[in-house]
Amino acid sequence: MSKRDYYEILGVSKSATDEEIKKAYRKLAIKYHPDKNPDDKSAEEKFKEAAEAYEVLSNAEKRQRYNQFGHAGMSGAAGGGGSYGGGGMNMDDIFSQFGDIFGGGFGGFGGGGSRGGRRVNRGSNLRVKVKLNLQEVAKGVEKKLKVNKFVSCNTCKGSGARNGEYETCRLCNGSGVQVRTTQTFLGAMQTQTTCSGCNGEGKIIKDKCHTCHGDGVVRAEEVISINIPAGVGEGMQLSVTGKGNAAPRGGINGDLLVVIEEEEHPDLKRDGNNLFYECYISFVDAALGTSIEVPTVDAKAKIKIEPGTQGGKVLRLKGKGLPDVNSYGHGDLLVNINVWTPQSLTPEEKKTLEKFRDSKNFQPNPSKKDKSFFDRMKQYFE
Ligand SMILES: [Zn+2]
Ligand SMILES: [Zn+2]
Repeated sequence: MSKRDYYEILGVSKSATDEEIKKAYRKLAIKYHPDKNPDDKSAEEKFKEAAEAYEVLSNAEKRQRYNQFGHAGMSGAAGGGGSYGGGGMNMDDIFSQFGDIFGGGFGGFGGGGSRGGRRVNRGSNLRVKVKLNLQEVAKGVEKKLKVNKFVSCNTCKGSGARNGEYETCRLCNGSGVQVRTTQTFLGAMQTQTTCSGCNGEGKIIKDKCHTCHGDGVVRAEEVISINIPAGVGEGMQLSVTGKGNAAPRGGINGDLLVVIEEEEHPDLKRDGNNLFYECYISFVDAALGTSIEVPTVDAKAKIKIEPGTQGGKVLRLKGKGLPDVNSYGHGDLLVNINVWTPQSLTPEEKKTLEKFRDSKNFQPNPSKKDKSFFDRMKQYFE
């Protein structure tokens, strides 16, 4: 991800004074403030981008590091505990930063979509990949996946508290939010922010659990069994509700997202629910007719080659494709017949074939009824 230059974001020069940086940020923060741009994702992004730029450029040490190393100097080891470390700040960080630019109280919504209420923690989603072969895709399969994730702490039953004891947060009286009325340059504003005393949870742990250090969750390996329906395809994502990471100190588990990867089959190619097989028959079999076997997903199927079969003929084996993941439909197996022309011949074979060179039966004579190349291509996709 390429990041924009912090000076460019704020629209100031590299030699801008602290006061100029502050002024530029104030302007952008007002313009893109979420309260003024409800449900506008791009405004929110710009708001966050500006906050991140200000966070760095307003701090002499960070600004100097940025000037020297660019964005690279801002992440990883050099991050120095900054809240922007892995890129991007959350809204709570931004609003808490407002104290020093707006003289207090130009707040905003509490984090986690909990405006005006106690925050409910939610565990994050977990994403895993699972590789399936064509048989598994055709039949559906149960897979057992070993995942490393956050699970509820056994010692404290997920509460994070040593004896299960909490006390009500005194800053917010348990409501999880702090309401302030302040005079700002926009007039009197009542603002609600997530309570800083309890992070919006409304309660505070008296004595932290020693196993999870108050988080209520610990890392553990878990085997999760999931049923993958028949007919799924490359890149599809299945979501298993509640099987993601456990939430800190009780709350809602995240989801497990399972991304499907398809193993390539040695002979059969897939297009949607249809399968394709390139079949080669000899010139003699094409002329005299024969019976051949072609691979299907789970076995082999016998098909009859009529005498006088032309190369390029497509045989459709109805229902031998893949099941539709969303309906009762079933795709077909399309067998594309190629006639193999010998590439080397013994003198004797040559002599035999020479005899047929002038035979009327060996002269190409396609009838108008035979499907043209164009028609055949059409039937593939009909
Ligand atoms: Zn614990
Ligand atoms: Zn509180």
